[in-house]
Amino acid sequence: MDSRFDFIPAMALARAEMRRLHRMAEPDVVAPLLAALPDQVEAAIMARGRALIADLRKGQASGWVNRFMAEYRMDSAEGLALLSLAEAFLRVPDPATADLLIADKIGEADWRAHSGRSSSLLVNSATWGLVLGRAVIGVEPQAGVLRRLIARSGEPFVRQAVGAAMKLMGEVFVMGRTIDEAMARMRKGENRGFTASFDMLGEAARTFADARSYFDSYEAAIAAVGRAAGEGHSISVKLSALHPRYEAAQADAAIPELTAMLLELARAAARAGIPLTVDAEESARLDLSFDIIAAAAADPALKGWDGLGMAVQAYSKRARSVCRWANGLGEATGRRIKVRLVKGAYWDSEIKATQEQGLPDYPLFTRKAHTDVSYLAAARELLASPHVEPAFASHNARTVATIVEWARAIGKSGADFEFQRLHGMGEGLYEALVREEGYRCRIYAPVGGHRDLLAYLVRRLLENGANTSFVHQLADADLSEEDLLADPVVKARASGGLPHPSIPLPIDLFEPLRRNSAGIDLNDRAVLAGLKDRLAGSVGLRADGGGTDAAACVTAAADAGPAWAAVPVERRAEMLERLADLIEERREEAFALLVHEARKTLPDALAEVREAADFCRYYARQARDLMQPLELPGPTGETNVLRLAPRGVWAAVAPWNFPLAIFLGQVVAALVTGNTVVAKPAPQTPAIAVWAVALAREAGVPAGALPLLTGGAEQGAALVADRRVAGVVFTGSVPTAKRIARALLEDDARPIVPLIAETGGINAMIVDSTALPEQVVRDIVTSAFRSAGQRCSALRLLLVQEDIAERTLEMLAGAMDALVIGDPADPVTDVGPVIDRAAYDRLMGCRAAMAGRIVKTVAVPEAGLFVPPTVIRLDSLDELDAEWFGPLLHVATWQPGDLEDTIARINAKGFGLTMGLHSRIARVAETVEAAAQVGNLYVNRSMIGAVVGSQPFGGEGLSGTGPKAGGPHYLARFCVERVTSIDTTSAGGNAWLLSLDVDLYVGLATETGGIGPRLLSRQR
Ligand SMILES: Cc1cc2nc3c(=O)[nH]c(=O)nc-3n(C[C@H](O)[C@H](O)[C@H](O)COP(=O)(O)OP(=O)(O)OC[C@H]3O[C@@H](n4cnc5c(N)ncnc54)[C@H](O)[C@@H]3O)c2cc1C
Repeated sequence: MDSRFDFIPAMALARAEMRRLHRMAEPDVVAPLLAALPDQVEAAIMARGRALIADLRKGQASGWVNRFMAEYRMDSAEGLALLSLAEAFLRVPDPATADLLIADKIGEADWRAHSGRSSSLLVNSATWGLVLGRAVIGVEPQAGVLRRLIARSGEPFVRQAVGAAMKLMGEVFVMGRTIDEAMARMRKGENRGFTASFDMLGEAARTFADARSYFDSYEAAIAAVGRAAGEGHSISVKLSALHPRYEAAQADAAIPELTAMLLELARAAARAGIPLTVDAEESARLDLSFDIIAAAAADPALKGWDGLGMAVQAYSKRARSVCRWANGLGEATGRRIKVRLVKGAYWDSEIKATQEQGLPDYPLFTRKAHTDVSYLAAARELLASPHVEPAFASHNARTVATIVEWARAIGKSGADFEFQRLHGMGEGLYEALVREEGYRCRIYAPVGGHRDLLAYLVRRLLENGANTSFVHQLADADLSEEDLLADPVVKARASGGLPHPSIPLPIDLFEPLRRNSAGIDLNDRAVLAGLKDRLAGSVGLRADGGGTDAAACVTAAADAGPAWAAVPVERRAEMLERLADLIEERREEAFALLVHEARKTLPDALAEVREAADFCRYYARQARDLMQPLELPGPTGETNVLRLAPRGVWAAVAPWNFPLAIFLGQVVAALVTGNTVVAKPAPQTPAIAVWAVALAREAGVPAGALPLLTGGAEQGAALVADRRVAGVVFTGSVPTAKRIARALLEDDARPIVPLIAETGGINAMIVDSTALPEQVVRDIVTSAFRSAGQRCSALRLLLVQEDIAERTLEMLAGAMDALVIGDPADPVTDVGPVIDRAAYDRLMGCRAAMAGRIVKTVAVPEAGLFVPPTVIRLDSLDELDAEWFGPLLHVATWQPGDLEDTIARINAKGFGLTMGLHSRIARVAETVEAAAQVGNLYVNRSMIGAVVGSQPFGGEGLSGTGPKAGGPHYLARFCVERVTSIDTTSAGGNAWLLSLDVDLYVGLATETGGIGPRLLSRQR
């Protein structure tokens, strides 16, 4: 937040209010909103609402999306299939993959039930395309006939039919492929009396080149709309389309650049005499948008122009304050700011992101009725604000009816505000209001090529088509008008403002099993600035807390063993939980160590601290269950009990790349199961280990139960060679793991000692031509270059389908240019240096050897161990046979039809840690899942960042032995299993059985599936 842009106290006040509200408990936000609402003019609202619903139903006769929704409900297999087909089909360049996609999406749905049923020619044509498609792929009875027909016609018949259906859908959702086409369509009178706001919609830019091209198309659109300024149309812009790094951490660079671009567009719009509105996007970007919008509004060149606008999302807890801020901005700059009130388009993804980040509360409401109430409160605020010109964007008859009736009640007319709706949606809703009552309505009109836009719009439709949405409910014949028009105020009062019961707070995500680790909002500039200041100073790295004598450490651990094993598991689990709390309380100390000793960036350091806390709480929970005696079934007169017991002294040998999380994960797993453990950190990161062990002691773990052994390979070798060590848990390289395995086996006097090894991988990501390039590139950059590629899970080998390789690599290159490489202590940094000189030399050696194959690399600071993120092109995936533990990404291509062979060749490398897949075809995902020999498969997401308990982590083959860390089978490996069987007949028999009526016993035995008498006795 930059207070320079709060020109007057009202704006500063609104900004302060927003900070308070941002993560406030939902009831505390909802209560004042409810209090601010006037008494409802309920009868008038209901009457108006009924009339609007009647208009809407009539409007459905010409409204594509409404009819589409009526025909293919979002919760039906057909609706989802059609939308997911539309999301991907047009971008698939090759026939083979297109056919697979069609077969995948339309194979299982019941299209024939829809054919000819809709009154819409368009919907019917689309349906027929799909019916034929399904027939041809062999599910329909007439498949044979059709196949023969196609064979004769020699046409790629199905593809064409589906292609035509998709083009029709494109026309439904997109106003025009070019701005001229869109304006012509508006002029045709399809939307008589309506104006439009055109948006050159698309995905957020991933590269500066994409951002430039969006800028150019906005500029061209302003010129075109300006030529017809008299028609009253406007332009909407998305800031995320204008900059690939529109993020809090990059604010210092992004805000001035975005401000300059917005200003240029705003000046052009002012000159052309047309309004320009900035769309509202993810809540993490809201605060940034204020600085950009305020700077533009204050520009002297725009004096006298009332066209600048912004959108406000009612689902945000900050919505009403944003309206106040906008009014303040208008007052400060002597203009009326156009404010478009929407409910918000990113609800699901915002909820998910907040859960992932472990933040204290959501920035938005979790109940639909609360969003509706917030919308109404914000609408009241806007209607009473002199320096704004409100626009109410909604397709909800209740919302619109309420605003009309409220406005009337306070003497406002259609001249004081306008309504807005999306192209294709809510047809009919506003017709009578515009025609008969003089209200104004603007249509938000997406413009662009169908290939790019359909994917985007379909995702938005899925959002708007969610069960709670009005458009969806309108299509539901089971809902009455009373249901559709139910008063959200009544609902919100009934809920007491409480959050939705099935959307737990992020901290409660894993309850009742355990508490989730707490995150920090790294999208908050104030938080980032504070952390930057505190991390800037040098940190004293204390590495003197451990011993260097392996034998002495083992002696200490062995001596402490019996006493520690006798501590009840409940008590040991509590210590782990206390340790998790301490880690979180002192996390900034950990950040400093991780940044300065392990060269982690701030987001990586935070992720690591959270993972460490998660390991502690997860294993505490697991141990409580696992360490209980387990009664096993058997014949009467016998008891059988399985118990897990500690093995003794463990050696835990940890890597430098997760010096806190993996180090502690290994240690606490051993401890909680009653073992003592000698902890041996990597020689590069002893200070973090010293810190972690001190915390464990503070949490109650006795010194003898956890001796710390610092040093290098020599100490490690001495430790595992010690005969008293009963188990080894290791994460690191394959050669070291093998050395350990040999050392454990070669000593004939030693029992066979278990080794849990987690090693590296040649991790591949497979991308087919149905994938969305922007998503793929985002995930490649994260997977290959985050942590400077120094994660076991990192992407090493990118395998892109040949047909899309050029475009993907081009976008990847652009995204790499947007990376910031530098000091990890600075929050702006994406990629820091590698761990040490030896690693640097190895990686630079590989780079030099492959110099002729480098297709992309980026500049790095000269001083420091910075290995440039680099893309190396291979002729064949077989060329890569080693793991390069750094930011070097090898790329090869594959052809359609080669998927199985490609997977077999990846498997043949012998590693099996992680694999990524980007594809929209479920059957492709199934094929990869069935064939890939990997521990962790990630589909349509990045390949890093496994979450404890959700994505247990670990590989197979050369990648490790298992069991997986953070998974349900891990702790058992630290234990021996002991079974005690007692023949109770020899000690007087089973008294209970003898006292039983035999019929009852048989009955009980049947009920319990024949489980033995001990269990029966419990059930009794
Ligand atoms: C002209 C126009 C411009 C737009 N511009 C933007 C923009 O700049 N930024 C943007 O984000 N969106 C924008 N939208 C999209 C807009 O957010 C959606 O169209 C809108 O949310 C749908 O609301 P409704 O009143 O039509 O439908 P309703 O069915 O009444 O409301 C649906 C909305 O309620 C909210 N919701 C659903 N479930 C819950 C829940 N459990 N808890 C809390 N809230 C919930 C969501 O916001 C959902 O979209 C725009 C829409 C229009 C018409």
